[in-house]
Amino acid sequence: MPKKNSQSKPLANSNVLAMHAYTPGEQPEGTGWVKLNTNENPYPPSPKVVAALKKEIGKEGSRLRLYPNPASKALRDALAKHHGVSAKWILVGNGSDDILNLLMRVFAGPHRAAGMTTPSYSLYPVLAALQGCHLVEVPFANNFALDVAGIARCGASIFFLTSPNAPSGVGFTTAQIAALAQKFPGILVVDEAYAPFARENAAALAKKFPRLVVTRTFSKAYSLAGMRVGYALAHPEIIELLDRARDSYNLDRLAQAAALAAIEDPDYYQKTMARVVKTREAFLKKVRRLGWFAHPSQANFVLVEPATARGETGPAVADALFKYLKGRKILVRYFGKHPLTHAALRVTIGTDSEMAALAAALDSWLKTAPPR
Ligand SMILES: *Cc1c(COP(=O)(O)O)cnc(C)c1O
Repeated sequence: MPKKNSQSKPLANSNVLAMHAYTPGEQPEGTGWVKLNTNENPYPPSPKVVAALKKEIGKEGSRLRLYPNPASKALRDALAKHHGVSAKWILVGNGSDDILNLLMRVFAGPHRAAGMTTPSYSLYPVLAALQGCHLVEVPFANNFALDVAGIARCGASIFFLTSPNAPSGVGFTTAQIAALAQKFPGILVVDEAYAPFARENAAALAKKFPRLVVTRTFSKAYSLAGMRVGYALAHPEIIELLDRARDSYNLDRLAQAAALAAIEDPDYYQKTMARVVKTREAFLKKVRRLGWFAHPSQANFVLVEPATARGETGPAVADALFKYLKGRKILVRYFGKHPLTHAALRVTIGTDSEMAALAAALDSWLKTAPPR
């Protein structure tokens, strides 16, 4: 409720007054942190990206005077080529969050509900609240399996499915997603932020199902979270609708140049992605050797349930380990509010030396007194 002396709040829309902003993962100040909390890539982007950025700035910044290409033409052409489609099938955004926002703007509203699986990416509820639409939540069971029938009949006009899932890391098969696309009567958004780390993806399905949208990002696999680039791959009819709602200069000049150079250097990225996957599997082995439960992961993070030396698990144990690690300047993510995540920590896969530092910290934590 607006305060008595509030000037602007009585003038705001009620849905905005009732909502909370998205809470991003912590970006700690200062140096010396082992940062395993926001699924950034531990490796730098391709050297060709850096060269392209320097070139794009131009002599004494001369190119920065000019507006960027409003349609991000060169980048969309390169992405279209990458996926074997024409540029009409691609929309680029200021991060894939921009694309998710456009999807909600265009396909959800007071009489058109949005849907999501719970728990998953916590931006979807924020966007739904901002759009003033009802949000249908389809809960996951303990094993984070895909509930095709539950989603198919949930009644939402647009459904956001994170695949591979976050924060579980569990991957869904292309066959499962095809079955869902067949049965769900609305717009199915497959948020593939982590697909480059997975065995399978739904890109080919976007060409087959005219109501399926695949969203991707340069933030995770391409080491460009700081540049803010994402894109949608979907039928041209969907792309054209999203394009109506798009900010005309939604990608700045440097973002376009960086993403273009990245997509044109697949060899470099295949190597860094393979390193992340290899480190992920080694970390999974390590935690399972400790006797801890961890979901299988198709992403660049692992959701792991820590246990004390006496075998105790639960929210108090997870919270205690989170704090212990933070005290040692190792930052992971704790989602303490949901029963499917409150006994676990989500660990982003870092470099081998970062993961060794984490492993050493886990070993020394196990030797300390249990949390209670
Ligand atoms: C990181 C992430 C995004 C956001 O990507 P940006 O391109 O950085 O906006 C979208 N969806 C999921 C599930 C993510 O984890």
